[in-house]
Amino acid sequence: MPHVLALPTPFPVGPVNVYLFEGDELTLVDTGTQTSRTMESLRQQLATRGFQVCDIRRIIVTHTHLDHCGLTAQIVAESGARVFTHRNNAEWLTEFPQTWAADAPFLDRLALQNGIPSALRDALSGLGNNLARYCQAVPVAGVLEEGDQLALNGATWRVLHTPGHSGGLVCLYQPEQQCLLSSDHLLKTISSNPFVELSTNGNRERRRSLVEYLASLRRIAELPVRLILPGHGEPITDDHRALIAQRLQSYQARADQIAQILVGGAQTAYQLIGAVFPNLKPADTLLAFSEVIGHLDLLGEQGRVIPQSRGELIYYRLN
Ligand SMILES: [Zn+2]
Repeated sequence: MPHVLALPTPFPVGPVNVYLFEGDELTLVDTGTQTSRTMESLRQQLATRGFQVCDIRRIIVTHTHLDHCGLTAQIVAESGARVFTHRNNAEWLTEFPQTWAADAPFLDRLALQNGIPSALRDALSGLGNNLARYCQAVPVAGVLEEGDQLALNGATWRVLHTPGHSGGLVCLYQPEQQCLLSSDHLLKTISSNPFVELSTNGNRERRRSLVEYLASLRRIAELPVRLILPGHGEPITDDHRALIAQRLQSYQARADQIAQILVGGAQTAYQLIGAVFPNLKPADTLLAFSEVIGHLDLLGEQGRVIPQSRGELIYYRLN
């Protein structure tokens, strides 16, 4: 089993769990945010286990959120470790921050279409620019695909591509020990927010993150699992199927709540944010937007809601 190192992040989610596998190739799964505090904490926690940053030979990046991948380049600079990640993440990591910047106009257009006012759009793009300092470009040595096998400290772990929380998210599964390294796909006390994200296939369309997420969650429910090692918080040792059933129920309840609001007439996603999250802080707009748009996709998938263009805006109405 890997060592868990909880590294501080500058984000409200708190520390991120990264996992260290001993063995022939010292391997780190995820790296934390690019801050000096995170690097210092990594050094200390490696040292208590008899290692240094320069001993790391391999890094596996589970997904391209800054709290999971931001520090990768600095670790590679010091260790020469080779980086592996899913195909959907490879260009993002290699070309950062250009990839980050290239998304900005598409995200702004998306915000405009969904009725987000211009002052708030400006604030969101400022937030985006500000966040870019927490990561750096790093070359990817190899891409991970669904079904790939990784030898980690004498055991074989299988790569599971579980898109949703992020389109390139991979979990690692060890079948004999029935252990799942779940990254942010499944957390014990926080329900994972499937973020608004653009596709990587060139046309930069919005992914239907929540719909993808629920399919990936159902997939994990089918696996025999005794221990889940998540990206944040405590390990999960309770029945993961019960936890997933609970989560599926709460997503459905939120979708039903939105459908109920739409009985009163068509609304933009931004209007729905106001109705669903009445006391929202501006800083949480992106999270709330991801929630609402995700559930509108889910309602669309269920044939209950359809989008309608009115000028530049998209309204959602009951079908
Ligand atoms: Zn994440």
